[in-house]
Amino acid sequence: MTGFVTAGDRELVDHVASVPLVDHHVHGAFAAGLSRADFEQSLNEASPDPIPDWMTQFDSQLGFAIRRWCAPRLGLPAHAPADEYWARRSELGDEQVTAIFLGGAGVSDWLVDTGLRPATILGPAEMSAASGGRGHTIVRLEGLAEQLATDGIAGRDYADVFRARLAEAARGAVGVKTIIAYRSGFGIDLSRPGEAAVREAAGRWIDCAGPAEPRLEDQVLLRFGLHAAVDLGLPIQVHTGFGDRDLDLRQVDPLLLLDFLRTPQVAAVPVMLLHCYPYHRKAGYLAQAFHNVYFDVGLGVNFLGARSLDLIAESFELAPFAKQLYSSDAFGPPELHYLGSVLWRRAIATTLGGWVDAGDWSAADACRVAAMVARDNARRVYRLP
Ligand SMILES: [Zn+2]
Repeated sequence: MTGFVTAGDRELVDHVASVPLVDHHVHGAFAAGLSRADFEQSLNEASPDPIPDWMTQFDSQLGFAIRRWCAPRLGLPAHAPADEYWARRSELGDEQVTAIFLGGAGVSDWLVDTGLRPATILGPAEMSAASGGRGHTIVRLEGLAEQLATDGIAGRDYADVFRARLAEAARGAVGVKTIIAYRSGFGIDLSRPGEAAVREAAGRWIDCAGPAEPRLEDQVLLRFGLHAAVDLGLPIQVHTGFGDRDLDLRQVDPLLLLDFLRTPQVAAVPVMLLHCYPYHRKAGYLAQAFHNVYFDVGLGVNFLGARSLDLIAESFELAPFAKQLYSSDAFGPPELHYLGSVLWRRAIATTLGGWVDAGDWSAADACRVAAMVARDNARRVYRLP
């Protein structure tokens, strides 16, 4: 993976180009059968609607970055027009395109959130087979709760069954994830609810939930799931910031987690703030303020394209370097799994390289910090082999 930066310290550029990444928050690539309409819709995170016919989502920072960095991997010139890109992609076929991009990302470990549309996307084992990297599972708490509702678990048994199933699921996982951001936001009381309140809320929810797709929005049960995960002790990934408009972006500022983070039991568990954009500077503050708080700027990196240089530079402000992790947060098109890696490597080489050139950092320190964020921090926190 070369050519992503033209100048700078040679030792650092070579190191950043080749260091294996742990992608600590990612979703599967599409299994197959991707239409251009679905592809373009996947380049818009915030809206679930089809792209209007008077525009193309290729005309965005993400679309330009795909034409710049992904086109050459398919044998096209950089900046190849969108129609040529799509024609070449179709000619190669989904399977080959997936192998090219997943294999090209230089990722040694994928920590896969299996909670979102698992039928149409690759699971951890399939991601591993397509890329050569290892796949690991992250358990989504709200998905586990919704399975209990689907199974019609009685309200009086809910807490015990949830804890047992969470412990069971955790045996094959390296962490858990909450999407409480999507269900209530952080502007609620996030303290641990009492057992009687959980019994009552579960009875109410499961009695009322439709059997097909129960959606957990009850605040008591959301809080219960979160604290059950705290008791478990595995790293807890928390969606914060940028996401689709199903969430209220005003309610997912990580600073709203302050009371939760001040809870003594929570301080014993790694809390992994995901995405964070546009609140990444606040996440950096929390990572300095709490020893158990970590963060990434995944998702934003891909969507900001050429502007991701500044996003990554800003992520290197307050947060100690031991508290930052790499993530692509790719979902769907395997271009996103590849692009996250390319843009991150480019920004790290450029940003840290600039500090080396200015005499602020040594090249050896820059290489060491790049490896911490690329893989070492994630290996330590998730206890990866
Ligand atoms: Zn995600």
